[in-house]
Amino acid sequence: MNATTTVILGGGFGGIAAANTLRSLAPRDHDIIVVDQTADFLVGAGKTWMMLGERTYPQISRARADLLEPGVRFLQAGVSSIDLTGRTVAAGDATLHWDHLVIALGADFAPGTVPGLAESARTFYTPTGASALHAVLERFAGGEIVMLLPKLPIKCPPAPYEAIMLLHDYFQRRGLADKVRLSLHTVEGAPMQTAGPEMGQFIKGELAQRGIAYHPLRKTVGVDGATRRVIFEDGAAAAYDLLIAIPPHVAPQVVRDANLTGPGGWIQVDPLTLEVTSAANATDVYAIGDVMAMTLPGRFKPDVPLSLPKAGVLAAEQAGVVARRIAAKLQGLAAGDVFGGRGFCYLELGAGRAVRAEGAFFELPHPVMQKRVPDEAQWRDKLDWVELQLKPRR
Ligand SMILES: Cc1cc2nc3c(=O)[nH]c(=O)nc-3n(C[C@H](O)[C@H](O)[C@H](O)COP(=O)(O)OP(=O)(O)OC[C@H]3O[C@@H](n4cnc5c(N)ncnc54)[C@H](O)[C@@H]3O)c2cc1C
Repeated sequence: MNATTTVILGGGFGGIAAANTLRSLAPRDHDIIVVDQTADFLVGAGKTWMMLGERTYPQISRARADLLEPGVRFLQAGVSSIDLTGRTVAAGDATLHWDHLVIALGADFAPGTVPGLAESARTFYTPTGASALHAVLERFAGGEIVMLLPKLPIKCPPAPYEAIMLLHDYFQRRGLADKVRLSLHTVEGAPMQTAGPEMGQFIKGELAQRGIAYHPLRKTVGVDGATRRVIFEDGAAAAYDLLIAIPPHVAPQVVRDANLTGPGGWIQVDPLTLEVTSAANATDVYAIGDVMAMTLPGRFKPDVPLSLPKAGVLAAEQAGVVARRIAAKLQGLAAGDVFGGRGFCYLELGAGRAVRAEGAFFELPHPVMQKRVPDEAQWRDKLDWVELQLKPRR
């Protein structure tokens, strides 16, 4: 039998998990190649810590090559094209042939899609943004801080809420709580709307306890940097001294160029097998993690469509399913493993407390979230979880 190849595009949460699981199951002569444009893997959950100056980039990152099991090849290169018919990808100077393709390229940021946002807002969603924001926060002695979530979907839906509560805690520790006013303006109808009304009420309660103003259903028209105001569709405006925004997310350009995306702008997949459904000629092609969008069955409100949250944990879960399906095919077996729609995310509340928001997203008539009370143990779980993601495999 000729040796076959799985090419995995993207070496983030999904890509690394797919490669390592497949390596443990596939025949040794099956070639597994992970392609990523950057050398380091970074745990997204650590970016709020960078914003607060509690961790540095080296403390929340690790060389991707160290995280991949022996026998997985890593190619550091930008993927510039994906040819579904010819079954090749162009990466740097190389053309890679694939028998199975896993697309785990994550989501890119497009701040330019909201007029004025790129010029006026800070963000903690990128490592460089988070450390630059930290320097700004250190100098901030008082005034209006606006946290803006202008568009959905975003990675880690709890992150804006977590960040603003951590900022509250940070200014309290600096003795500036009565000089800093915090508000959150979001396009969402409720915090983490996929998690449902109970979780939304819980977060709204936590924000209210801290005196953080919460403004849902705010459609951002643009940001006027000259007058320091965010303008909303209904004519309202939010004045700020410091604007922190979650940048709008888009599928990576190479994915859009390959016509892999569906009407919503993301790759669409079979929710159980993760096989790509939004491109007719995609055979043996899977998409996992942030690069794809999955509409969920069942709704809290009929007019508010839900989609599976974008989270590293879910990307890794999907990666396991895809790896087991590919391994079964390689061995000539029926690929029976399917994605179950379960995952979790930590929401840190400050002062060493967190809650693990755990959901079964395929449950009917709507996703089911496990009820938990925030405590220090869950915060410690989060620290351990981050460490686990950075544990070297070789
Ligand atoms: C502030 C914050 C907090 C978060 N907290 C959590 C949390 O607590 N729990 C959790 O589960 N998730 C969390 N997340 C979300 C999590 O980081 C993402 O959902 C996760 O990284 C998605 O994994 P992925 O494999 O789909 O994509 P990624 O991990 O983003 O990996 C995609 C990879 O593709 C590469 N790539 C993209 N385009 C190209 C190209 N053209 N050529 C080559 N390489 C390319 C990128 O360099 C990247 O390494 C958080 C995110 C943020 C921003």
